[in-house]
Amino acid sequence: MGMKEQTKKLEGILDKAAGRSALQKEEIVFMLNLQDTADIEKLFSSAREMRSRYFSNEVFLYGFIYFSTYCRNDCAFCFYRRSNPVSERYRKTPAEIIETAEKLADSGVHLLDLTMGEDPRYFTSGDFSELVNTVRDLKNKFQLPVMISPGAIPESILKEFRNIGVEWYACYQETHNRELYAKLRLDQSYDQRLNLKIYARELGFLIEEGLLAGIGETAEDLEHSFKVMSELNAGQVRVMSFIPQKGTPLETVETMPRLREMLVIAIMRLLFPDKLIPASLDVDGINGLKQRLNAGANVITSLIPPGTGLLGVSQSTLDIREGGRTVAGTISILEECGLKPASQQGYMDWIRSRGTASLSGWE
Ligand code: SF4
Repeated sequence: MGMKEQTKKLEGILDKAAGRSALQKEEIVFMLNLQDTADIEKLFSSAREMRSRYFSNEVFLYGFIYFSTYCRNDCAFCFYRRSNPVSERYRKTPAEIIETAEKLADSGVHLLDLTMGEDPRYFTSGDFSELVNTVRDLKNKFQLPVMISPGAIPESILKEFRNIGVEWYACYQETHNRELYAKLRLDQSYDQRLNLKIYARELGFLIEEGLLAGIGETAEDLEHSFKVMSELNAGQVRVMSFIPQKGTPLETVETMPRLREMLVIAIMRLLFPDKLIPASLDVDGINGLKQRLNAGANVITSLIPPGTGLLGVSQSTLDIREGGRTVAGTISILEECGLKPASQQGYMDWIRSRGTASLSGWE
């Protein structure tokens, strides 16, 4: 196909998406393989238009509390896998978690995201009561929506979290290609993880599903992932570029250009126009925020207060000490993009509506 034909084809697809018509698998794969800069900009521009149709110029801000970096698992891509001797381990006390939450709440975040590895302290004993109590305290104290990302916890514990009013359960498959999954999430059941999300949704949680980009997945794999995300009815859909981590088996693997992550963000915006799509500060820090917002993201995640000794997930220290991962640090970039933080009421309204606009789906 010549350049002009490519552009024509793209314009046709973008028109369909703008009219909320279903896209074909082949059309999604075509967009994932775009290379021409002007074409890519057309896609991003359509994604931004779609975002403004559903969210105006408002963006949501998530505070991130990675409170335990211990993990019983050995995911090949993860810095905090149990066998990594160089990863930094800590476990914050309930008082430290509340203190951090306070800093984040004061800074104006719309949600508190509580994340941990599958910490053996809880998973071996099966006793999660300290954690449930901390989250209950946190909910009572701050009246902010909470997302938990504690790994594949028992169903009964998930239910306890729901009963104390936790809104979100985040649990990432990273890929929906089962073979690739087995190589990434070693010794973890694909089905158990996926079914837990389905169960969480039945309990009334909003769920977040997540993908890794540039980890050996094909464009077809990504298209399949979008389909699974659609079936899961995930309220938030996340993509992060794979970053090789020191001390892991994938340490020396070459990564794909960041473009893939941006294309995924933009295509997800077209497919899931009313859902939440994060621009994670955890991949390229504050310097990578603009390109993710320009691709159609509408949530800034991984805001971390300086001076708390807390780490990120994939770029464990980037921009944290300098205060770049704070609400204040992001405002000027939002302005440059013609965006602004939403009000807390705006976020609550979205949660209430739960992103109910129908999906365009697939033909
Ligand atoms: S990705 Fe999560 S479950 Fe896997 S090793 Fe890292 S912290 Fe543990």
